[in-house]
Amino acid sequence: MSSNSELFDRACKTIPGGVNSPVRAFRSVGGTPRFIQRAQGAHVWDAEGKRYIDYVGSWGPAILGHAHPEVVKAVQQAAEHGLSFGAPTEAEIEIAEAIVARLPSMEQVRLVSSGTEATMTAIRLARGYTGRARIIKFEGCYHGHADSLLVKAGSGMLTFGNPTSSGVPAEFVQHTLVLDYNNLDAVEAAFKKYPDQIACIIVEPIAGNMNLVKPRKGFLEGLRELCTKYGAVLIFDEVMTGFRVGPQGVQGLTGIQPDLTTLAKVIGGGMPVGAFGGRADIMAHIAPLGGVYQAGTLSGNPVAVAAGLATLRLLDAPGFYENLSARSAQLAKGLEERARAAGIAFSADSVGGMFGIYFRDSIPSTLEEVSASDIERFKQFFHGMLERGVHFAPSAFEAGFVSGAHDESIINETLSIAEEVFATIKAA
Ligand SMILES: *Cc1c(COP(=O)(O)O)cnc(C)c1O
Repeated sequence: MSSNSELFDRACKTIPGGVNSPVRAFRSVGGTPRFIQRAQGAHVWDAEGKRYIDYVGSWGPAILGHAHPEVVKAVQQAAEHGLSFGAPTEAEIEIAEAIVARLPSMEQVRLVSSGTEATMTAIRLARGYTGRARIIKFEGCYHGHADSLLVKAGSGMLTFGNPTSSGVPAEFVQHTLVLDYNNLDAVEAAFKKYPDQIACIIVEPIAGNMNLVKPRKGFLEGLRELCTKYGAVLIFDEVMTGFRVGPQGVQGLTGIQPDLTTLAKVIGGGMPVGAFGGRADIMAHIAPLGGVYQAGTLSGNPVAVAAGLATLRLLDAPGFYENLSARSAQLAKGLEERARAAGIAFSADSVGGMFGIYFRDSIPSTLEEVSASDIERFKQFFHGMLERGVHFAPSAFEAGFVSGAHDESIINETLSIAEEVFATIKAA
């Protein structure tokens, strides 16, 4: 049996940084990533046989808990019939119908294999449909790693952004305007400056990639009004929030209808599935119907679709989301009470199966406020919990995830461990 650190050393020889996606490397908290051997329900086991209560949930997909028997069975059955055909299947119609039936703003949907592909294509489609080049995104929202989206704000509020990744030429982001989340005035100013040049706004309608940050009252409503007024496409990136915060995503919680929606994570049930869709008149611009090109060898892969479809169907169980929300709230409130009782500046928030923990007095509503939390304390908390068998996301800028398998006793167990950890942090 190899230890986590032996595996990490070995991984680093053939895989850059030892991981296939950077946040897994523990760079922002230090220490050695746990190599996962298996997972079941609310738990994962590492290479050393140690069990953890898992709040990473594969970064969102594992909403039913890990290895749900009905999802695993659906995957096994699909696999027996062949892994990929490169020709259409009935299951693709079924998952498209399942998505369209659940999200009223989506009249048509195209499947891809990741969230990155979904957002990249939704933006291309918005540009093709409007004939405009400029796009608006918000600092702290993550929409995958397409060139034009790896960008941070420029020096002035309405100047175009700078790449956040080397390898992205400045010209590739020159059409991307980066504004502050929850600042509607800035969006209005942008439309006044470029009234007929903005193709779309892409937004996480509840942000989960700068820790959990909810929209202020009126923010999403304002985006909707401005897009309608100026003929721009409103894209809700619900890759994380779709079927995670409630049965109809943020659009269901708020009643605000985007023109296009992007999905991934939950809709693949742990397999690689992404999707973009929305108004049929916009979707008619996608090839083969229209001139906006998009394709994928493994798009709508039958095994992945089987996992997604089984997951969506299980989410229809009566009371699923009520229970999920109650467990997330129990965790968030319980952590907040215990941290404050220990004299630690701390707040927490939750929605559906998502939560945020912040080492600061109040719940943040901007990236600046999230950044002003006590990151050192977060690291101590993270390692204290990990040592005691609770796996939170290894960064203070990520949301956490609760699944249907996290029952009341698992949350209570987490809270008792946290109480111990808060006491050690306070003493440190
Ligand atoms: C995870 C995520 C993406 C990227 O999805 P991948 O499948 O990792 O490419 C895009 N948008 C949001 C909001 C996400 O949370």
